[in-house]
Formats: sequence, structure tokens, C-alpha cells
Amino acid sequence: MVNVIGAGLAGSEIAYNLAKRGVKVRLFEMRPLKMTEVHKTGYFAELVCSNSLKSEDITNAEGLLKAEMKMFGSVVLTVAEETRVPSGKALAVDRIAFARRVTEIVEGVENVEVIRQEVTRFDPDEGVWVVATGPATSEGMLEFLKELVGDFLFFFDAVSPIVTFESVDIERAFWGDRFGRGNDYINCPLTQEEYERFWKALVEAEVIEMEGFDRKLLFERCQPIEEIAKSGKDALRFGPMRPTGLIDPRTGKEPYAVVQLRREDKEGRFYSLVGFQTRLKWGEQKRVLSLIPCLRNAEIVRYGVMHRNIYINSPKVLDPYFRLKKKGNIFFAGQIVGVEGYLESAASGIYVAYNICRLLEGKSPLKLPRETMMGALFDYIIERVEGDLKPMYVNFGLLPPVSGRDKYERRKRYAERALKALKEFLEENAW
Ligand SMILES: Cc1cc2nc3c(=O)[nH]c(=O)nc-3n(C[C@H](O)[C@H](O)[C@H](O)COP(=O)(O)OP(=O)(O)OC[C@H]3O[C@@H](n4cnc5c(N)ncnc54)[C@H](O)[C@@H]3O)c2cc1C
Repeated sequence: MVNVIGAGLAGSEIAYNLAKRGVKVRLFEMRPLKMTEVHKTGYFAELVCSNSLKSEDITNAEGLLKAEMKMFGSVVLTVAEETRVPSGKALAVDRIAFARRVTEIVEGVENVEVIRQEVTRFDPDEGVWVVATGPATSEGMLEFLKELVGDFLFFFDAVSPIVTFESVDIERAFWGDRFGRGNDYINCPLTQEEYERFWKALVEAEVIEMEGFDRKLLFERCQPIEEIAKSGKDALRFGPMRPTGLIDPRTGKEPYAVVQLRREDKEGRFYSLVGFQTRLKWGEQKRVLSLIPCLRNAEIVRYGVMHRNIYINSPKVLDPYFRLKKKGNIFFAGQIVGVEGYLESAASGIYVAYNICRLLEGKSPLKLPRETMMGALFDYIIERVEGDLKPMYVNFGLLPPVSGRDKYERRKRYAERALKALKEFLEENAW
């Protein structure tokens, strides 16, 4: 029997993959009885911010990670493909359909017993435990975990607002992906005058104060728009509001700035503002976003929020298989180990499940080849950090270098080498 705490991206992969292989699992999830600050439903594997799982192209780091996860039989990816919504080259999902389906599948697998309960403590000397409680681990659990792992590290992450399709002024907007690659995004153009008015209001708007907030602790990929705006008048035009490759059919030109809206659900009733994470006060969000002409009357159904994410100093306390060095029966998985991102978290769950299976079969645990994206990420987290761990997402810089004429050729080689290495690894060490 394996006890998994937290049915998020990581916990769902662990429970599913163990149970499919005949291991009995008790899966503890506190929602909906006790909610976190960032989740909105009681479903497993809820995506708390963007509904995009990013590129599927294996010459992108995220695309390569997906290809590797598929080789392990990832339930998260299977469901993502089932519940995808149009979003150009990216794999984006209907977040409710996605989370609901993962829940149905995991709850329906023989050998999984789901217990809806907050875990605040367990006997560290009894049984096998996996802590997959994520960036919003409950306070009660944190107190107990401190006894096991010492102090936590933290950083700040923020969420973008979602608006209803019917409230967007679609007459002023235009459809299209960058460089004419498709027609999936709604683009809300701004003239220079409109942009400058919006920018001024944004930098002057009131934000929600947070205890311990420090700009240095913002996760670099998830900077709130007001923080980006404060770094210079044009910063947004080179960031989330860049018009590059987006031609407004009314003028035949790129607008001065653009806000892109990505579809959220299968029916296309909700759209999120791409890259518009924010911690503005809610009234301020409404006021400032209404300065974007297409969003003048936008109905915001989810406001942007900021969250303090915790994680453990994994290199100090975990072994290469994500087990506590001092207690080999306690594993950690998901964002709490210091990986960042939905798929990175799910992938760490697959890795932990893989090694638990091996251990239960009396075999020794294995690291994944360093040439693979998963292997390189986990190796980085545990073995390659100087000082305190900073959250890490997949990127080609983690892999041992390859030679190649240009970036594209090198990326192709990274991908081919990774998939070959993983294929050989799984042929020898199938699970
Ligand atoms: C504000 C914010 C925005 C983010 N935006 C993005 C993004 O846009 N793209 C991206 O790729 N990643 C994003 N991330 C990161 C992403 O959410 C996480 O990487 C991912 O969800 C983590 O997966 P996980 O399984 O570790 O945790 P989660 O998916 O959070 O799952 C943990 C589960 O544990 C449960 N739980 C917590 N404590 C207890 C307890 N004591 N007992 C029982 N159950 C418990 C929770 O209810 C939850 O279901 C964001 C994170 C945050 C916080």
C-alpha cells in the first residue's frame, strides 16, 4: 500500500501509474472540503493559471518533455489530448473538462482508494508515503513537514484573468496566430495613445499587498504585468503585448500593441488574457483592463491573483529518487520538490511512481538518462545546484551539449538523442 497526499498533477500521475501496475494506493485530497487559495474546484489535476501545456514540437523543451512522458504512459497527457481546445501549435485544454476527466479516470482505476481529507501528519515510521501537496500545501501540513525537511523556500507566482467571450468587443478585435499560422487567438489591438493611457493606469494602479513580497522572489516566467510595466514604458510591447507577426486586417499592419486572448473551454465561452498575470486589487483590474478598447465592457469571471509558493530545499534533503535522505519510505513529488510547471510536476510524479514500482518489486531505484529532458531536470534539482535551489522548468540548457550548425539543428539532435536514450532505457528497464 502506498499513501499519496495531494491529487494534483503529480499525485494523479503517481496514483494512476501505481494502481495500473497492481499497487494499492490511498490517495488523500483535501479539496473540496478544504480549498487552497488558487484552486477553484474539487477536481484532481486542476490547472490553476494558464490552460496551456505549451508546445508539442519536440524541438521545443516542453514538446520533448511531452514525448518522453508519453513513452511512460502519462495519464495527464492522454487526457490533455482528449480535452484540447484550438490554440495554434500549443496543447491547450478545456480546464474543467480536463480536470474532471483526470478525476474520473483516477477514481475509476482499480486499486485506488480516494480519501477526501486534509492530511496534517502521518507516522513517518509506518508505510510508504508520497508528499505531492504542491505549491499551496495546507498550513496544517506545513507545520508537520517542517519537522521532516526543515525550513521551506518560497517564491511568488501569479494568475491571469479570464473574461467571457460575449463581453469582448469582437468587432474591434481580429482573429489570428502570429505570422498567419492559424486563427485561434482573439487579438485586441491598441493604438499608441490607447497603449500609453493603459500603461500609465497600470503602473499607478493599486496592488494587493502580500506579506514577505519582494520583487526578487517573483518567478521569472510569471512576472505580473504591472511589474513588467514598471520596468519601462515599452516593456509590455516587447513582452506580453508585443504585436510581432499579428496583422490587423483592417489596417494591413501590425498594431502598436496587442492583448491576446486564448480560448479556455470547448464551447469558446471563456477566454484568458495571455501573459496577463497580475496582483492588482480586483476593482483596479476591472478599471485598468477596461482601458483596452476590446475589453471596455469585459466581464471578468476569474480575477488575477498572486500566490506565495513553497518548495523544499531538495538538494539538501532528498536523494536522487526524491526520497528523504533520512527516511527512505517518504517520497516527495511535484512542485514541492522545486520543479516548476504543470508538466514538470506531472513528470516528477511519473518518475517517483516508476521507482516505487521498482522498489516494491525488490529492484533498486534508477535515475533516468541525463540525455533525456526528464533525467536532466531531476538531476539538476538534486545534484547540480549551488546554494539554495531555485525552481526549474525544462530547457535545453539542462542537457549535456551537442554540436550542430545552428540552434534548430542542435535542438533536433537533443531531441533525437533524448528519445533514443529513453527508448533504450525503457527496453532494458520496462515498468
Ligand atoms: C498561482 C500559480 C500560478 C501558476 N501558473 C502556472 C502556469 O501558468 N503554467 C504552469 O505550467 N504552471 C503554473 N503553476 C505551477 C503549477 O501550478 C504547478 O506546477 C502544478 O500545479 C503543481 O503540481 P503539483 O501536483 O505539485 O501541485 P497541485 O497541482 O497544486 O496539487 C497539489 C494537491 O494537493 C492538495 N493538498 C494540499 N495540501 C494538502 C493536504 N494537507 N492534504 C491533502 N491534500 C492536500 C491540493 O488541494 C492539490 O490538489 C502555477 C502555480 C501557482 C501557484
